[in-house]
Amino acid sequence: MMYLIRSTCGKHKAHIWTGTDSYCSMYTTGGLNKKKYKVAHDKKDYPLCTMCVNVFKRYEELSEDESEHIKSILTERKNMKIDFGETRLEKVDRLSKPHKWFAWYPVEISAHDYRWLEYVERTGRPSALCEGLWFWKYKAIPKTVGDVLKGVEND
Ligand SMILES: [Zn+2]
Repeated sequence: MMYLIRSTCGKHKAHIWTGTDSYCSMYTTGGLNKKKYKVAHDKKDYPLCTMCVNVFKRYEELSEDESEHIKSILTERKNMKIDFGETRLEKVDRLSKPHKWFAWYPVEISAHDYRWLEYVERTGRPSALCEGLWFWKYKAIPKTVGDVLKGVEND
């Protein structure tokens, strides 16, 4: 197992390293200062990042096919340059309607019900005060990752 730890001493958490990102996605989404972190075999005495552990466990529950499928979605997402050629109003219109969205980080459906690494229905509401800030509501799509894969295979 590889870990992402701070290169400086002090109190902080060790993240689990996927090979390209931390399992919690904080590394690529900008939650972590990349310069201050390094990949290591030894997590030392640092406690593990809870979100990394949860996502890691979720991966462990998946079959090999499912995790390969998810990995390919995540890789695609990373390699994709998104340019919808939209105006701000068109974007607001698109994201304000319920749309299918791959939860590549954990999202809250309701109290104690978090979903990630699966498709959910997302509806956005733009902040009136801060441009670019969105409030999201998530609904579960009544399908497991396994069902989605079967659907893909049968198509
Ligand atoms: Zn983490």
